[in-house]
Amino acid sequence: MMHTIHPKQLETDITQLFVHAGVSSVEAQTVASNLVLSNLSGHDSHGVGMAPRYIDAIFEQKLIPGARVTAHIDHGSLLGLNGNGGFGQVVGLEAMEKAFDRVKTEGACIMSLSNAHHLGRIGHFAEMAVERGWISIHFVNVLSRPVVAAYQAGDGRFGTNPCCIGIPIGLPGNPKNEAFILDFATSGVAQGKMRVAHNLGKEAREGLLIDEYGKPTTNPSVVVKAQSNGKYGALLTFGEHKGSGLAIACELLGGALSGGGTWRKEANNARAVMNGMLTIVIDPKAMGQESFFYPETQAFIDWLHESPPSPGTPGMILAGEPERQARMSRQEGFEIDEATWNELKASALKVNAQGLFNL
Ligand code: NAD
Repeated sequence: MMHTIHPKQLETDITQLFVHAGVSSVEAQTVASNLVLSNLSGHDSHGVGMAPRYIDAIFEQKLIPGARVTAHIDHGSLLGLNGNGGFGQVVGLEAMEKAFDRVKTEGACIMSLSNAHHLGRIGHFAEMAVERGWISIHFVNVLSRPVVAAYQAGDGRFGTNPCCIGIPIGLPGNPKNEAFILDFATSGVAQGKMRVAHNLGKEAREGLLIDEYGKPTTNPSVVVKAQSNGKYGALLTFGEHKGSGLAIACELLGGALSGGGTWRKEANNARAVMNGMLTIVIDPKAMGQESFFYPETQAFIDWLHESPPSPGTPGMILAGEPERQARMSRQEGFEIDEATWNELKASALKVNAQGLFNL
């Protein structure tokens, strides 16, 4: 069964869930609105379904409500920041605002952020930069479970390490409201999708998984529960050696350069998900390209749109467009699946907020 809910109602209940867990109402509201925005953008995997995990992470004392970023490097165009275990939705915004201040004076900023709890949908940060007419590039590592294997490796060694590139198209404020927001996990498919397939008893498609012995499989259970030898299988990266290389770059830049660390241990049952992120923000004006860059980006995207659709497809879609379309179509309400809804209700019980999530 699916539950249809209005985003405002959902945001109110998620805010209250966090408030009952001891989070300040301002911070709870920031996190809730960010999670709902992920659902609105079509990414349910990074939406309100994450809230129960955040509540557990607060109980684990790995997610620290109220934590703010501190800087260990702060000069010229360089910022080295520590999120101190704070909500990614809070310290991530704070870190981006600091980077934006630096872009205003320096023209560009290289910002690293370590020890942030789950940053959610990385495209949100790129959208903030693009709204200002700037380019934003993000490499992120995930400290949670080593669920993804490198190309031709036989077990999982890192997380779903997302990469994101945001580029404004046309002059800032352009009426077409197009922006290129490429934002994806480097695994071929999300772990959550394998959990759903496992629950439904469905097979995954080929090329996504290896089993506990490192052999290709279509059985999604290998990444959901420990197998007969006590080990898990793993997800594969997208794009063979290329996606694998990008995932490793995310680990090295998001983990080693930020100081937050790379993943180098066995799986554990911790619920907290920590992220490290390297962000590069560039003002095209500072590159001396103000009058060329914006029209040129528009001209190229217009040229792409002139391409005839490949038969049986809607034709070329600019990265970022599916999320903009989802936000239009979901604004009056969207569906939440039964399992997620039950998890939210169970989480509400944990924090003595029985009245929440009752439709
Ligand atoms: P996905 O496979 O849905 O790909 C999304 C990207 O592809 C977007 O840029 C979208 O605009 C673009 N896209 C989708 N369909 C398209 C089409 N037909 N033509 C052109 N472009 C198209 O996303 P995903 O890999 O499942 O990642 C989902 C979200 O999860 C992302 O926002 C990512 O940042 C987030 N994530 C976060 C973490 C974390 O630890 N914080 C980890 C992994 C993923």
